[in-house]
Amino acid sequence: MDCIFCKILNGEIPSYKLYEDDNVLAFLDITQGTKGHTLIIPKNHVKNVYELDKKTAEDIFRVVPNIANALKKAFNPIGLNIVNNNDKPLQSVFHFHIHLIPRYEEDGAIISTINNYGKFDNEYFNELTLKIKENLNK
Ligand code: 5GP
Ligand code: ZN
Repeated sequence: MDCIFCKILNGEIPSYKLYEDDNVLAFLDITQGTKGHTLIIPKNHVKNVYELDKKTAEDIFRVVPNIANALKKAFNPIGLNIVNNNDKPLQSVFHFHIHLIPRYEEDGAIISTINNYGKFDNEYFNELTLKIKENLNK
């Protein structure tokens, strides 16, 4: 399969490995958007969050606090973003991954959620709640 992250897993492409266990690999993102920018991937090829099974989700997120704390101790960032992109055009590598992005004063732009506080009424919130809940697996 022509997947960059599968090639990293099987050693065809080199990487700076930070942590590895039976199910998961963490390594430095090649772009180093900020100092310590890290990716965590499952060893089985899963395209994105829509294909993620519960066991793989658990395996991945289980290692996040350890790596986040290591980044904090190593580089003393002012904060840390956890980012996961799904589908084009947000996602560029189609092997599920979580970005850990330590943030520093000098970054300039703080990544935050979009803030539309106060723009919507109760009816809108109720409509959204119903629509999402009817699509959840019971
Ligand atoms: P996405 O946009 O899919 O969420 O992010 C994919 C990430 O993979 C990007 O941040 C990119 O820098 C990283 N990446 C792509 N190719 C390689 C590679 O060969 N090695 C490493 N270490 N990171 C890569
Ligand atoms: Zn893959």
